[in-house]
Amino acid sequence: MFSKIVIANRGEIALRILRACRELGVKVVAVHSEADRDLKHVRLADESVCIGPAASADSYLNIPAIISAAEVTDAEAIHPGYGFLSENADFADKVKKSGFVFIGPNAETIRMMGDKISAKKAMIAAGVPCVPGDNSPLSDNDEENFKLARYIGYPVIIKAAGGGGGRGMRTVHTEAALINAIAMTKAEAGSAFGNPTVYMEKFLEDPRHIEFQVMSDSHGNAIHLGERDCSMQRRHQKVVEEAPAPFITEAQRKFIGERCAKACVDIGYLGAGTFEFLYERGEFYFIEMNTRVQVEHPVTEMVTGFDIVKEQLRIACGEPLSITQDQVKITGHAIECRLNAEDPKTFMPCPGTIDQFHMPGGPGIRCETHIYNGYKVPPYYDSMIGKLIAHGETRDGAIARMNTALSELIIDGIKTNIPLQQDIMNDTGFAAGGQNIHYLEKKLGIH
Ligand code: ADP
Repeated sequence: MFSKIVIANRGEIALRILRACRELGVKVVAVHSEADRDLKHVRLADESVCIGPAASADSYLNIPAIISAAEVTDAEAIHPGYGFLSENADFADKVKKSGFVFIGPNAETIRMMGDKISAKKAMIAAGVPCVPGDNSPLSDNDEENFKLARYIGYPVIIKAAGGGGGRGMRTVHTEAALINAIAMTKAEAGSAFGNPTVYMEKFLEDPRHIEFQVMSDSHGNAIHLGERDCSMQRRHQKVVEEAPAPFITEAQRKFIGERCAKACVDIGYLGAGTFEFLYERGEFYFIEMNTRVQVEHPVTEMVTGFDIVKEQLRIACGEPLSITQDQVKITGHAIECRLNAEDPKTFMPCPGTIDQFHMPGGPGIRCETHIYNGYKVPPYYDSMIGKLIAHGETRDGAIARMNTALSELIIDGIKTNIPLQQDIMNDTGFAAGGQNIHYLEKKLGIH
């Protein structure tokens, strides 16, 4: 095992990684911005290094500063967490070239999966079902594009190959809108992602978002840890996640999960990853792969009893997977509510000082957060301040536990989305399960 690593992230995920390091006897170097000196994991770390001013571009995205921090502290590896540099192939490359281990897949894999066209091609080759479409860059030939859209069938969606964060997509319902939509998406993709390449696929009208967690080692072994349902979304941002996905059968789980694991072996994948699918009328359609640990990984940990972050560290050290597929057992049901510092009605971020914080507890409750009494939520970063996870024997049991936990949870001094999460937990549609990705926005009156 490593003796010391750098955690190149902040907030709850940095704390989560620190805890995994503690259990494995690994020393931790926390790198932080000037605004983050008081973060909980910075206080708990063995060493800390300030890597720049508050703005992410100058700190958490500052590659030379992070690599120098690893050099001066004599660390062996860098864990990127999620967001920031976690899916930046150039960062993974530079970490390796500087003599450190990047805790994640290699740069080529990140690059391939970061381009949605090459990712789809790799998945088709591995037998993973994808959204129907052409899977090649759209040309400037209007006639060809009309022909392609007719062949796929309207509505179609034009997507940026380098897109991310729910941006760089345009839905087209009629031929009249097609050419303009392609031009606009190309222009936007060029300026937002530095890559104007766009492609076309079928637009699925009322899918669910279901994703599979995988882990793959450097010895040619890969397993899947079942799926999560993340259909409760607002503006393509997940709000509630759960595992397993309601109404997905054991046969479906095995069929898709095994294909994902096989795809990992085929592409030489390393570490934790997620295959995201849209699910409609009984069929799964791959949309993208996330080559990092995800915010919602705890629901999978709760139903499998498997520690994804510790396994990431072991795999990065060259150890083989610690379990086989046969040992993966799904027990009960887990739900995660994301906790955001925001107005529950307008969704405006609400940074500020936390006057009072009371963490809920009891059987099956897990609270992943870096906040504490007197902690000041800075305005510079994502508004997520933590996650509450409830595990129960059944889905209804998990909802009941989540409701109890939310009623015990106190975060005073700032506005949070706790009332929204309570509303969702008491919603009859949510209780029924299996809602599509538009359900929450419809409930909120956004559509
Ligand atoms: P990003 O990398 O920006 O997150 P994704 O490819 O994962 O992009 O898509 C994000 C979201 O956009 C999906 O969860 C879904 O809501 C919507 N979306 C993407 N592709 C399609 C499609 N073919 N049909 C319908 N919705 C889609």
